[in-house]
Amino acid sequence: MSFNELGLSPHILRAVKELGYEQPTPIQQQAIPAILAGQDVLGGAQTGTGKTAGFTLPMLHRLLANHGRGGRRQVRALVLTPTRELAAQVGESIIKYAHHLPFRTLIAYGGVSIKPNLDAIKLGVDILVATPGRLLDLLTQGALTLTQLEVLVLDEADRMLDMGFITDIRRIMKALPDTRQTLLFSATFSSDIKALADDLLREPTLIEVDPSNTAADQVTQRIIQVDRERRRELLSHMIGRGNWQRVLVFVRTKQIADRLAQQMQKDGLNTVAIHGDKSQGARNRALADFREGKVRVLVATDIAARGLDIDQLPHVINFELPQMAEDYIHRIGRTGRAGRGGEAISLVSQDELGQLKDIEALIGQSLQVEILDGYEPSGKPSRQTLPGSKPVQNPPRARGHANAKGGKGKPAAGKGKSEGSKKPAPARKREVVGEDIGFTPMRRLPKAQRGDFQDNSNEE
Ligand code: AMP
Repeated sequence: MSFNELGLSPHILRAVKELGYEQPTPIQQQAIPAILAGQDVLGGAQTGTGKTAGFTLPMLHRLLANHGRGGRRQVRALVLTPTRELAAQVGESIIKYAHHLPFRTLIAYGGVSIKPNLDAIKLGVDILVATPGRLLDLLTQGALTLTQLEVLVLDEADRMLDMGFITDIRRIMKALPDTRQTLLFSATFSSDIKALADDLLREPTLIEVDPSNTAADQVTQRIIQVDRERRRELLSHMIGRGNWQRVLVFVRTKQIADRLAQQMQKDGLNTVAIHGDKSQGARNRALADFREGKVRVLVATDIAARGLDIDQLPHVINFELPQMAEDYIHRIGRTGRAGRGGEAISLVSQDELGQLKDIEALIGQSLQVEILDGYEPSGKPSRQTLPGSKPVQNPPRARGHANAKGGKGKPAAGKGKSEGSKKPAPARKREVVGEDIGFTPMRRLPKAQRGDFQDNSNEE
């Protein structure tokens, strides 16, 4: 199928062509006709599938059809995203897709000055991309009315619920007209998401490109069991030995992110951490440096890295497994995007083998556990072993690389010799980074911490 067959305006097709898209991705093939037909959509799509264009292109077409009617310019399309980074990314994509259209797009998120948002709204905004907190600020200040809204998009709705935005979303809904078209996208379908969809969508068309909860097909998944306190050493070793130039590393907490970044830096790898405590400017800079190749390793918490679209990201590392199994899918979805292959490597300590089982159950795949020469687990009791009980011996299902196979037709867990199997790592002083890994529950920052403001308006 070609883009020309979808019935989109020539101005939109021109932008798509200029971006070098040759044919619509599977989600685009399904979503575009449904949205053009005015249907509500419940989309089960991971990032990396082209879902942004999937909802944006038909949305723009519909906005164009009614453009110029009515008086003062008011918001006609609203895209809600869970994080600032995702708002910026989606907003920038919309601006590209709308390059030849007469629309004004505003990207509004907390942590930066609200004043430029207010100025942009005064001039008139057609498309608003916002995080829930900032949108509520704008609504409560009376800066914005959404009574003319035609299309509402909830992007990464599962993450919005995880982050505790449900009350905000319900408050926002009260400001919206009932006659709108609603599009809800989510990588996973929990009962909460289904309940939200039941409330917000009218007879939605269900669109699923991958069966829900299935890990991205392009990604080779490797699980390496290693002692908690040797993970950093192994990680630096793999990056150096494989000469990897762009590596995204996931950790659970801000503290671990900072500490790991410092230690990797000491290992001679140019590394930056991004997490919710970093200023928006610092996060944007870190991302830009990583995208441009000035930074080799980006260490991120789940929230900070959510939805990031980084071209050519061949390696994603789970330095620790995520607390919630669903996040595993989000994390590994950072690599293998838009048809390119990628490798997601999880460094797993003995006490995480239980979490690994949850992940395997979620993705419906059994993942082979490798042990690399020179990094064999010591078999010491884990922190989570109950006092008085024997350490649980969970023998890995494969040792070394040669006999390690991926589950369910996935590629074997690596090609050729593994980084660690050629020669044992030199005995180095072990720095403990994982000892105090704790779980910081995901939550919204209180208003006071959402900080200052800056201009994000983008106008034609
Ligand atoms: P998304 O899932 O929307 O974050 O998109 C993932 C990546 O795929 C982005 O870099 C898009 O620019 C790219 N992309 C989206 N649609 C297409 C397409 N039809 N052909 C090629 N690349 C695309």
